[in-house]
Amino acid sequence: MRYVLFGGMFDPPHMGHMSIAREAARLLNPDKIIWIPSANPPHRKKALIPARERFLILSEWAKNQPNNEISSFEIGRSAPGYTIDTLSYYKDMDPDAEYFILIGSDQAACFSQWKNWRTIVEKANLCVAGRPGGGELPPEAAARAVYLDNPPLDISSTEIREKILAGQDLKGLVEPEIYSILLDRKILRGLR
Ligand code: ATP
Repeated sequence: MRYVLFGGMFDPPHMGHMSIAREAARLLNPDKIIWIPSANPPHRKKALIPARERFLILSEWAKNQPNNEISSFEIGRSAPGYTIDTLSYYKDMDPDAEYFILIGSDQAACFSQWKNWRTIVEKANLCVAGRPGGGELPPEAAARAVYLDNPPLDISSTEIREKILAGQDLKGLVEPEIYSILLDRKILRGLR
């Protein structure tokens, strides 16, 4: 078995996320892409959409996305979700499987600040997607990485949250299906 683990806030999920997940599927042909929305961050940077809601939005979307599974592993935890712990959990479940951790190149640039990053690259491969303004992995991690040839999309959840709060259009930023789910779940209530 081959798994791609894709962690993030997904606050909300956008075209950039979907695009790199599809590219990773094309390149790696995994049995499953496991999306792992992270818990609500403690104080500092507050999520616009609560963790459980973000999990439900992705779950609704994934109903029509074969091989994409949404994990509640991190949202159910009170401690901050570190990738090393999430990876260990999945490795314990299926020790013989091959694991790829999907990240954008902005995360590649700060990868050496991730908890136990050297252990992460001993246990898993990295799959790095290009992102405007991104950077490079540390050399030891780059040796365990594959790179996606994805179209660079200058889209972030930050920009989308600002637009939601200002009641602005999200055209071209979120997939139509995600847009409908956001409407249904009353997250776009303020949209004019
Ligand atoms: P925020 O603006 O709130 O920081 P974000 O847009 O970076 O959010 P996250 O949910 O934090 O979204 O990202 C999850 C993962 O997806 C990260 O590894 C990130 O690098 C990657 N990612 C997000 N947007 C893009 C994009 N446009 N292109 C490539 N990778 C992306």
